Order: sequence, then structure tokens, then C-alpha cells
Amino acid sequence: MSLRLQHCYVAACDVCHVEYTDPETDAVAWFPDETSAEQALRADRWMVLARNLPERFVCPADDEAHHALVDSLMPPEPVIQLSGQLGFDGTEEPSR
Ligand SMILES: [Zn+2]
Repeated sequence: MSLRLQHCYVAACDVCHVEYTDPETDAVAWFPDETSAEQALRADRWMVLARNLPERFVCPADDEAHHALVDSLMPPEPVIQLSGQLGFDGTEEPSR
């Protein structure tokens, strides 16, 4: 048997940096490519984000740091101000 170097992917949470482990063996999982890593993590309740984002993976840990990252990815709440209604800053929308 020969020993050779082979590249593989290991996924880690971008919040707590814990490495993804195989649920059956509890060992750090190695993936041959990015797509199979994404599929395995998604199937195991990890959040898999778009490849162009700086953060890619979020583990299912339920704490403030993880919630903060997920919240930061959400679009801002729309601010609706009706005509004649006071805005949050106390100003009234000028009537047209
Ligand atoms: Zn995490």
C-alpha cells in the first residue's frame, strides 16, 4: 500500500469554528468537493450560505452569536410611514 497526499474539504462553522463531524462516526468529515460538503451539512441542519459570501456555514447551535449572524443576513425591516403619521424619529411626513 502506498501513501499519497490527497486534498479534501473539511467544513467548519463560521461562528464557533467547530468542525463538521460525521453523525455516525463522530469523526471530522472529509469531503471530495464543495458540493458534497454542502449537501451533507444541509441535510444535517447546518445553514449553508451562498458561495460568494464571506460566511459559508453556520452550525445548528442555538446561542446569541449564531442568532446574531443569521439576523445580520436578513434584509432590513421595511419602514412604512403613512401620510400624517409621526415617524419613529418624531417627524411628520410632509403632506403632498
Ligand atoms: Zn457554530
